[in-house]
Amino acid sequence: MADIIYTYAGSAYLNITNKCPCACIFCIRSNGDGLGSAETLWHKKDPTIEEIKAEIDRFDFSEYDEVVFCGYGEPMQALDNLIESAKHLKEKHGLKIRLNSNGLGDLINGKPTAHLLEGLIDSISISLNAPDSESYQRVTRSKFGEEAFPSLLKFAEDCKKYIPNVKFTVVDVISEEEIEGCKAIADKMGIPLRIRKWIK
Ligand code: SF4
Repeated sequence: MADIIYTYAGSAYLNITNKCPCACIFCIRSNGDGLGSAETLWHKKDPTIEEIKAEIDRFDFSEYDEVVFCGYGEPMQALDNLIESAKHLKEKHGLKIRLNSNGLGDLINGKPTAHLLEGLIDSISISLNAPDSESYQRVTRSKFGEEAFPSLLKFAEDCKKYIPNVKFTVVDVISEEEIEGCKAIADKMGIPLRIRKWIK
């Protein structure tokens, strides 16, 4: 069975689904089955909420004050389990919660989703990936096509209302010019941008 909770570079992570509507050119999933403490992050079947809660209650969080939803899939694909497990982590374990997301939660779930995270998610990192729809599609190969990029921007704007810390990220696989374009979007929206190194 794949790890639901794993540790990597001093942080604890929750890997609640392998589903994702993208196939990003830099995706860490193509590097190998495991990461950090996890031998494999590929579930035979996505875990149920009971399995996730049981893993949370088994894990020793004493060295951590924050837990991050980020695994071999997009956490917003398992929205109900994300909400339920975030509640459990907060109420029973008093942890702060970060969500790493591709920002496509609204398209994935067919409805606005940012407000559902209010009071549960303390910070969110949204992968901006590109400065426009065409280059976004080239980098992420999202199944939503040209709908994806505008929906991501709308979701990020919504997140500012409901989540205390909102950040954008880009991976440095794109050109300098494209990174500058991402900075301009992030500045205009008042969202900090972090440039991540590509882990090959
Ligand atoms: S959105 Fe994340 S999990 Fe999905 S393909 Fe891109 S990098 Fe991989």
